[in-house]
Amino acid sequence: TPTGAELDARAVALDRAHVFHSWSAQAALAPMAVAGGKGTRVHDHSGREYLDFSSQLVNVNIGHQHPAVVAAIQEQAGRLATIGPATAHLVRGEAAQRITARAPDGMDKVFFTNGGADAIENAIRMARLHTGRDKVISRYRSYHGNTGAAINATGDWRRIPNEYARGHVHVFGPYLYRSEFWAGSPEEESARALQHLRRVLQCEGPESVAAILLETIPGTAGVLVPPPGYLPGVRALADEFGILLILDEVMAGFGRTGEWFALDAFDVRPDLITFAKGVNSGYVPVGGVVISNPVAATFDERVFPGGLTYSGHPLAAASIVASIEAMESEGIVAHAKSVGTDVLGPGLTALADKHPIVGEVRGSGVFWAVELVADPATRTPVSAAVMGRAKAELVARGLLPFIADNRIHVVPPCVVTTDEVAEALAIYDDVLSLLDAVG
Ligand code: PLP
Repeated sequence: TPTGAELDARAVALDRAHVFHSWSAQAALAPMAVAGGKGTRVHDHSGREYLDFSSQLVNVNIGHQHPAVVAAIQEQAGRLATIGPATAHLVRGEAAQRITARAPDGMDKVFFTNGGADAIENAIRMARLHTGRDKVISRYRSYHGNTGAAINATGDWRRIPNEYARGHVHVFGPYLYRSEFWAGSPEEESARALQHLRRVLQCEGPESVAAILLETIPGTAGVLVPPPGYLPGVRALADEFGILLILDEVMAGFGRTGEWFALDAFDVRPDLITFAKGVNSGYVPVGGVVISNPVAATFDERVFPGGLTYSGHPLAAASIVASIEAMESEGIVAHAKSVGTDVLGPGLTALADKHPIVGEVRGSGVFWAVELVADPATRTPVSAAVMGRAKAELVARGLLPFIADNRIHVVPPCVVTTDEVAEALAIYDDVLSLLDAVG
């Protein structure tokens, strides 16, 4: 039998020979072998353990290998491993009911997709057909996925090489630390970002705009928690001009912020919610759109021109039911909130006070960003080389980080324990001390 080290080497060799990776130049990639995991930890074939403070792509909210979710998938595989979307499948209905029960009142239906990007795609399609309008306004600092309309709605650099869809317009959103609006307070940032959005709507012709599409809290763009009044203000603008509001909860939903939906912490009601990732922690690929009753009614007599072979797949549905039940019965969402409030938030704030390289810390629950700057006065982001060093030093100390631009996103599973938070904070502290010297 091969040794653990041999299996790790074989995993990497096969990957390098045959697997083509996302968003990367392929030649210099050096992926790490992962063989298994439990809770907040993963390990390679050799048994070396890592604290997963990335939750992979910020999706393993319930932690690795939750026994109830694994068992539900196994049981469903034994009963009925697949069935077409046109059937009435009990577990699919149970999954949709569990999701809508946690959404705002008046959103009673779910369209299931294979992941987040196609949830965005179909939410945009619904908004265009419901309003009879074409344009979609989203933010520069955003990521919405890698299919046609989703990548064009995306605000970050990943849009540019993929631009071909029609009707996408971008605006700046609130981000006080790097305000586009010369604002000096959260309230001012909110008011000016809303005025900017109003001006863009006026200039684009509000009667041509189908939807405003926002991540409730932009995630990959930097955990940009909206200031007071922003989201209700967007809702009011949407209502004024008959525009739908789509809130993208793919990353922020299902416990990440310490709420079932991130929008629960803000006074805002969307017309459509997109979800994926945390709904079943990615144990089986799935996503979807939660649809408000008026939008759903548009398609009572009229055909909805969209669909997927695996919409509401039984294994995905079973994993959703088990995941939501476990999150409920084990108090996992409440745990994420208290970890954020009691240990992770204060711990990161203490690191910001101690280390000059930390410009700002922001977030809630288990959804935090630590922004690194070369100079706290100018807020100049640290270089890519510094971030590369940060990543290497964290991994060398047994912590898997999520790195985006000049930020370390601190995004462990919702089940992370206070001891694991303490362990991670010590590692971040150590690495930040080193970076203070080189940054
Ligand atoms: N929307 C948001 C906010 C995301 O963070 C992501 C993925 O990171 C997506 C959509 C796309 O989801 P997927 O990768 O499942 O297509």
